[in-house]
Amino acid sequence: MPSSPDTNLSAVLYSIKNLRLEERPIPQPGPHEVQVAIQKVGICGSDVHYWQRGCIGDFVVKAPMVLGHETSGVISAVGDKVTHLKQGDRVAIEPGVPCRRCEYCKEGRYNLCPHITFCATPPYHGTLTRYYVHAADFCYKLPDHVSLEEGALLEPLSVAVHACRRAGIVLGNYVLVCGAGPIGLVNLVSARAMGASRVVVTDISDDRLKVAKDLGADLTINVSGKDAKTTAATIAEFLGRPVDCTIECSGAETSTTLAIFATKSGGCVVLVGMGAPESKLPIMDALCREVDIRGVFRYVNCYPAALEMVASGRVNVKPLVTHRYSLEQTLEAFETARTGAGGAIKVMIDCSRNQ
Ligand code: NAD
Ligand code: ZN
Repeated sequence: MPSSPDTNLSAVLYSIKNLRLEERPIPQPGPHEVQVAIQKVGICGSDVHYWQRGCIGDFVVKAPMVLGHETSGVISAVGDKVTHLKQGDRVAIEPGVPCRRCEYCKEGRYNLCPHITFCATPPYHGTLTRYYVHAADFCYKLPDHVSLEEGALLEPLSVAVHACRRAGIVLGNYVLVCGAGPIGLVNLVSARAMGASRVVVTDISDDRLKVAKDLGADLTINVSGKDAKTTAATIAEFLGRPVDCTIECSGAETSTTLAIFATKSGGCVVLVGMGAPESKLPIMDALCREVDIRGVFRYVNCYPAALEMVASGRVNVKPLVTHRYSLEQTLEAFETARTGAGGAIKVMIDCSRNQ
């Protein structure tokens, strides 16, 4: 669909499996906001989930919603109170803007803010669009040598920074990452950057485990059909002892069971993967061995660290991008993300007018 310069082509989810490209009005920034000419948007599993199912837990798409929240762009207009950004700056967009007033915001845990507006979490529109308006202080200027794709990847990378912080990873730790999807893989490279000396990764797909190996996993294990206790023993045998912490990134119940069994007494399991609302888990084992189990929800104050990790070369997230499409090819892009065809890991959509 061709678009003239004064239109705002957007990928709008109307209802289950009903994703359409349509022109929408171009939004104008308020005093503390910026208008961003969106450049790169990575497709996340949640975008695909909303498209296929129309909801995630209690978040239900009730009105047409623009998808997309892993975003970078170029500032096209600034509100009159904005001082740290100017037209032409390349930025990464942190998609959740909290209320700044509630107890969670005041405590510095704004990811838990009940009033947060998060791109492409209903009822809020996302960024798969040409122009988007966002709070200026949730936009991070990219150094010249950091690409716009890397800027978009700061979103999943921030999930990993938060997970590794919640896991308490320090220099010399042994870490288990369960699941080698995009989230497991960014946790692998983040754990390494934050000091883990040895990282083991599990999955049920050999293709994904190969990527984990290429990204530096010391050991990869295909756990399909394997008993959790046996796998925990295999990991401890390989490392010489159990892991200090485990980052669960699959959401599978059997994987969370492995996470508990594989973690040393006094260690920590962080749950990133979203699975069934209820699970049967070896809670008594966790209790008797004082294995802490902690939730992870998005990220808080992680974008600056994620950006530094990329800008300094401590992590390389570029290999995660396997497929590229234009905004006009959004449906094709979502189909690739849904099926994982061609070894898809991160599917990137270019929203610029002149690709
Ligand atoms: P993904 O579906 O691409 O990856 C999940 C991986 O887990 C796949 O490679 C799959 O083969 C593997 N897997 C399935 N069963 C397994 C098992 N028993 N053991 C080990 N691996 C197994 O998804 P993703 O984009 O990488 O996201 C991972 C999870 O993280 C999803 O559940 C997603 O909803 C969740 N997530 C949570 C947050 C948060 O804030 N907590 C943020 C982003 C994503
Ligand atoms: Zn708040």
